[in-house]
Formats: sequence, C-alpha cells, structure tokens
Amino acid sequence: MNSDELRHHLRPRLGGPLPKDRRLDHSAVADLPLRYRRAYQRVERGILHACMAKGAAPQWQALALKVASCTPRRPCRETAICWWCKTRMGLAEAEAMIDHFPSSTRRKTISVITIILAVVPLDEVDEARSKIKAFRRYWRRLCRAWPGCRWRGRVELDLLTGHPKQELGLYARKTLLVFGYHPEESAPSIGIHAHVVLHHPGISRSRVAGYLSMVYSAFRQVMVTGTRETQELPEALARCGSYAVKARPPTFALAGRGSRTCRPRHPQTILSHVDLHRRFHPDDLLIEGE
Ligand SMILES: [Zn+2]
Repeated sequence: MNSDELRHHLRPRLGGPLPKDRRLDHSAVADLPLRYRRAYQRVERGILHACMAKGAAPQWQALALKVASCTPRRPCRETAICWWCKTRMGLAEAEAMIDHFPSSTRRKTISVITIILAVVPLDEVDEARSKIKAFRRYWRRLCRAWPGCRWRGRVELDLLTGHPKQELGLYARKTLLVFGYHPEESAPSIGIHAHVVLHHPGISRSRVAGYLSMVYSAFRQVMVTGTRETQELPEALARCGSYAVKARPPTFALAGRGSRTCRPRHPQTILSHVDLHRRFHPDDLLIEGE
C-alpha cells in the first residue's frame, strides 16, 4: 500500500471507533479500571492523529495503520501506542508483581520506592541504556546487604521537551537542575526514573529510606513510601505494577481536555515521545531480583 492509499484507508476510521475499541469492556482487559482504559484509548487516538498529520513520514503512517488494525486475535504489540496492547501489558505486569511477593508479606516490610536516575540528551539513547544497566547492577549489589529482600519494578522514560508548558510531574525543578536540565532552556532530553517495590523483612523502612537518601542525595531524588493503606496488599501491588507501564506523552502536547477528536496540539512532540519508547523493549526496563 502506498502512502496515499494508507491515508485513504485510515482517515475515515480515525473519526469513529476502531475495531478493538468495541472491546473496552472485554473481560480480558476489564480488570484494569475503565478510566485507565479510556485514558489509554484517548492517548492512542492522539498518537494516531500525529502519525497521520500532514508531512509525517510514510513509516509513521504505516505504524498508524498497524495499530489501528490491531485486534485481540492479532495484537500489534505496539505497547507504546496501542491501548489494547498497553492494557494487556499493564495487567500482566500487575499479575507478575503480585506473584513476586509472598502473600503473607507484612505491610510494614514492603516499600514503594521512586528514584530519579538521570537526565540525558534525547539523541543519546545508548547512554540512557547504559545508565539503566548500571542502575540494575548497582541495585542488585545494594540489596545484597539486606538479607532476604526481594524487589520488582520498572524504569520509566520521560520525554523532557524543554517546552515552557510541560508539567514535570514527579520531577522537581531543583532535582532537574542538579542533573543539568533547565526547564524552558534545555534541549529535549530523556528523564530516567525507576519505580521499585522492595520487600525488606530484616530492616525497617526508615533505615532503607535513610540509606537510599545518602546514595541518591539530590533534592527529592528518592521517595520511599508504604503501599496504599486503603487497598488490600494484592490490589496495591497490582497498581504499582500497572502504573509503571503507562508511557504517557507530555500532557501539553495531547489534545485539550474534553476534545472530541483527540487531535494533538503538538504532533511533533508526540512523535518524539513514541520514537523514544519504541527504541526500548519492555524487558529492557524491568528490574527484578531474588
Ligand atoms: Zn495492539
């Protein structure tokens, strides 16, 4: 199919539901709350618009067609884009997280840790990769000092655009400055952070937190909390698992709230986000041990 035919094939379909959109309530994904599935679906629609925007390269259009044609029987596996495949991956991750920790685990011996690891220029994907590998090695060594501990988590990548409208979520400005990134001034970069669930039977949470804040000593570089008290442990673990695979593009680049078409405001930014995430296999981002 050439690019004109592709456009012709896909344009009308972007106005209404895609075949898989009828599966929003399908039992295979219904375990993830509907608002998540809807949010993923709206993000996907925005990405498809960006791939089909005027001037987008043919490979983006081909990618849009692949994702638009995804069905539960023939999944596209484009987990950075496709709401169905991303939801399935989130559910698998939630299950793996629950299975990784014994069901008798006591609440106070399990902690949820977020660490800002690094900021690297957007075109230095290899450097990002080696930072992740180094963290994985280091984390394993660190945990060896704490007998009986287990952990599982994921590295998450964020496109830091340098755009004044970008909200930085869990990144504090002061933390970013330590890493040499100035919001509004710096060139586009990759923000690398990790979410890890750690079971530490032999040591208290405050000691874990104290130790980590010495190692990761920049302002708000590390956060250590318990699991959500209002949730049962399996539910809280499931949430930690699915949370780390969301790969959401910067909000300012997506459509405005309530937009019916989901047409993005900054299609180029959306494509940079997708390009970054497609360079990593989900396994590249997994952190797991013992
Ligand atoms: Zn898919």
